[in-house]
Amino acid sequence: MTSARGKRVLIAGLGDSGVLTALRLAPRAEVVGISAKPGLVSGQELGTRLARPAEWARNYWIPFDRFRGLDRVRTVQASLTGVDPAGRKVSAVRADGAVVVEPYDALVISTGVGNGFWRRPNMQSDREIGESLRAAHQRLAAAHSIAVIGGGAAAVSSAMNLAAVWPGTKVALYFPAERPLTAHHPRVWNRVRRRLIAAGVTLHPGHRAVLPDGFPGDEITSDPVRWSTGQPPTTADAVLWAVGKVRPNTGWLPPDLLDERGFVKVTPQLQVPGHPEIFAIGDVAATDALRSSARNRADGLLATNIRAYLAGKPLRAFRPATRRWGSVLGVQPDGLEVFAPSGHAFRFPRWSIDTVLQPWIVRRGIYRGIRDNGSTVERVIGEGLTGREG
Ligand SMILES: Cc1cc2nc3c(=O)[nH]c(=O)nc-3n(C[C@H](O)[C@H](O)[C@H](O)COP(=O)(O)OP(=O)(O)OC[C@H]3O[C@@H](n4cnc5c(N)ncnc54)[C@H](O)[C@@H]3O)c2cc1C
Repeated sequence: MTSARGKRVLIAGLGDSGVLTALRLAPRAEVVGISAKPGLVSGQELGTRLARPAEWARNYWIPFDRFRGLDRVRTVQASLTGVDPAGRKVSAVRADGAVVVEPYDALVISTGVGNGFWRRPNMQSDREIGESLRAAHQRLAAAHSIAVIGGGAAAVSSAMNLAAVWPGTKVALYFPAERPLTAHHPRVWNRVRRRLIAAGVTLHPGHRAVLPDGFPGDEITSDPVRWSTGQPPTTADAVLWAVGKVRPNTGWLPPDLLDERGFVKVTPQLQVPGHPEIFAIGDVAATDALRSSARNRADGLLATNIRAYLAGKPLRAFRPATRRWGSVLGVQPDGLEVFAPSGHAFRFPRWSIDTVLQPWIVRRGIYRGIRDNGSTVERVIGEGLTGREG
């Protein structure tokens, strides 16, 4: 019987799930991570990212060298281009065009999805990440009216946070059904609705937008929005498309690893069928209808299963929650509400966010220690994303 020691685990994609998996595996295996970004650029909390990017960046954009637990992980900034399952190696290309080939004993696919302009799998330097945060914020800051299109958490949170940071801007939320957040428990919308109305957001149910030519909504637009549901077109200075047209970042993988929609097929043990040494997690993994293994923290189970696989021991199954849960609006002046799958809210008071939640629960507990020394993020933020912009 062998163990994970001396075995090499390759993590393809170091976003929310890839980083957490690497942190768990690093003490007991050789871990190599390949990612297009030089740090964790989280897919969470679009609303605060657009409205208060400096505040968002402090908690959701963390260079890899600030994670104490990644000190033993070799990170390679490169764009993945292929995998050879028979030869057990992946290939990638660095920014300077150099080809990288990395062998593995176990592979974790955690390349996530693309969504709008805020989640893209392209190679970016710290400077480019900072510029993209700033550009979206400034585009919206210049608008007198903003139309947010979509009925999921990204749309709702954007409408709320933009209205809160710029009370003089007309913010309208257009969604196709009777209510947004249909994958959450109905209690969640009852509570969030009151907050949106109090913030001055106008609500427009029953509006299904005609997607512009060449959509995937990779930019903020200003053309009139047409509705397939019969209403007259809508104009706004800025139109934010958050319609959930996610695209799995799997162009680098052979089709036999993918389901009909391009997501990575997995067993309940998070293994790719027919390839027990290949695992997948996060938004890219077809675990359940909501593809919820990221927010349901399957990284712990995955790390245990990889070690078990490498040691020839039995693996455990992932059991997802049936409803979406978590934060919807992000941190607000009165704190952070986190909704359980039952729709009940737990609120962290505002004072506890920077004194308890971020330093102790997130940085120490979830991320196992983050260095607080001056870093690239502060430098880039210092160049233009200071304080409560606008
Ligand atoms: C702790 C935690 C809490 C959460 N809380 C909430 C919550 O409260 N509410 C909520 O709605 N959701 C929550 N979520 C879920 C979250 O919104 C997303 O599901 C999560 O960001 C998806 O993570 P991911 O690792 O799958 O993808 P990503 O974070 O997008 O990571 C993918 C990474 O792969 C890279 N990549 C992609 N393609 C390539 C390529 N070809 N070459 C190289 N690199 C590539 C990308 O650049 C990116 O860095 C939470 C998730 C976590 C982990």
